[in-house]
Amino acid sequence: MLENVIEFFRNLPKKKCDKCGEPIEEQHECYGNHCDKCNTL
Ligand SMILES: [Zn+2]
Repeated sequence: MLENVIEFFRNLPKKKCDKCGEPIEEQHECYGNHCDKCNTL
């Protein structure tokens, strides 16, 4: 059962930054659509 959950998250498409197109590491739920660099600008 646990493996199914892991597979599910593995198959999710990665978020990309709206500004530069860099893949966003989703560590926070409320991250928005910008990567670290564009977020701190
Ligand atoms: Zn960016």
